[in-house]
Amino acid sequence: MFDYQAPEQLLAGRIILVTGAGDGIGRAAAKSYAAHGATVVLLGRTLDKLESLYDEIEAAGYPQPAIVPLNLESATEHEYMELANTLEQEFGRLDGLLNNASSLGVRTAIENYDPSIWNQVMQVNVNASFMLTQALLPLLHESSDASIVFTSSGVGRKGRAYWGAYAVSKFATEGFMEVLADELENTSPIRVNCINPGATRTQMRVTAYPGEPPQTNPAPADIMPVYLYLMGADSKEINGQSLNAQ
Ligand code: NDP
Repeated sequence: MFDYQAPEQLLAGRIILVTGAGDGIGRAAAKSYAAHGATVVLLGRTLDKLESLYDEIEAAGYPQPAIVPLNLESATEHEYMELANTLEQEFGRLDGLLNNASSLGVRTAIENYDPSIWNQVMQVNVNASFMLTQALLPLLHESSDASIVFTSSGVGRKGRAYWGAYAVSKFATEGFMEVLADELENTSPIRVNCINPGATRTQMRVTAYPGEPPQTNPAPADIMPVYLYLMGADSKEINGQSLNAQ
């Protein structure tokens, strides 16, 4: 596991948006950020899940979160701009953006891959991250040390048979991270990095490996050290890196 012990108030006063916050790793990250003092903006497509997380965070006495119901498959440029305007009015800046939501698509050979599923996976995993990040950059520039984190995968570093659009989208994610990190390197205090969570006990993992006993893998809450590290001030000098959670 990534070796980092986060101070209790690591993220006090920080405003952090998490995509795919309703379930899996995104849910654990949002809750962990809130537990370390951040005001979290919970973006996801299933309102019930976001509301139940909102209630958990409130009941725990962490800073009051905000909810943004948005389907990244269909969201338009206009909706991203509206979101940026709302956050600008509410908070005036953004200190962290965790691009976490992803679509797995299907596990099949390229020869048989359904082009409509290909497009859907690329839309959620690549295009939506681009549009959201672009829309939020002006707000991230308002922070003294903002952190943008993308979510990669082992199949985004070494291609593997039958992982299709998902693997290709994760290569694109690593590439996007490197391009943006390089652009911002000398012109802004914003840092841009990737996390590869590694095998983690979530619905996506169960769908990808239906025969695997779920207990084989760590729970999302267990892989939080690197998620906290990259959002807090201790990683100020880290830019353009792809880190492993495990
Ligand atoms: P889950 O499927 O458990 O959770 C994904 C979350 O993203 C869900 O809350 C889901 O919403 C949301 N989401 C999916 N599609 C959309 C959409 N179109 N619009 C808005 N929200 C959406 O996945 P994990 O937690 O396992 O994965 C998180 C990240 O980690 C992903 O980027 C994944 O690729 C990566 N990863 C995971 C690994 C693992 O072993 N789990 C390994 C390597 C990488 P809803 O709740 O409505 O379904």
